[in-house]
Amino acid sequence: DTDRHEDQCVFCRIIAGEIPSEQVHADEKVIAFADLHPQAPVHVLVVPREHRRDITELADDPELLAHTARVAAQVAADRGNGDFRLVFNTGPDAGQTVFHVHAHVLAGGKLAEGEL
Ligand code: 5GP
Ligand code: ZN
Repeated sequence: DTDRHEDQCVFCRIIAGEIPSEQVHADEKVIAFADLHPQAPVHVLVVPREHRRDITELADDPELLAHTARVAAQVAADRGNGDFRLVFNTGPDAGQTVFHVHAHVLAGGKLAEGEL
């Protein structure tokens, strides 16, 4: 099969261990790793292992969505002071570039005010 997500998708490849990442959390449902181009002192991506395109597909599994939020909060508590911004860019106009759903955890200090 030449069209598996595992071959095409950068985050599936990170999950498969084919691309290295600086992992900060891993469990049976999600992994979390440092963003390659950090936009805050703490910038971690929380990524469900199962390939889903965006938060609308993640919302089909409320338990997994809730777990993603809990892991995000845990990362912010472990690596920052517990305060964090959680961003799901959804669609090209919103800046989504990797179409495997991921929560940006931005933390580690007073965050800049941008579009929100
Ligand atoms: P998006 O723009 O889709 O919301 O976010 C994608 C994020 O993934 C970007 O912040 C980008 O820096 C990050 N990213 C893209 N490729 C890689 C990679 O191979 N490794 C890591 N650690 N981050 C990546
Ligand atoms: Zn994927």
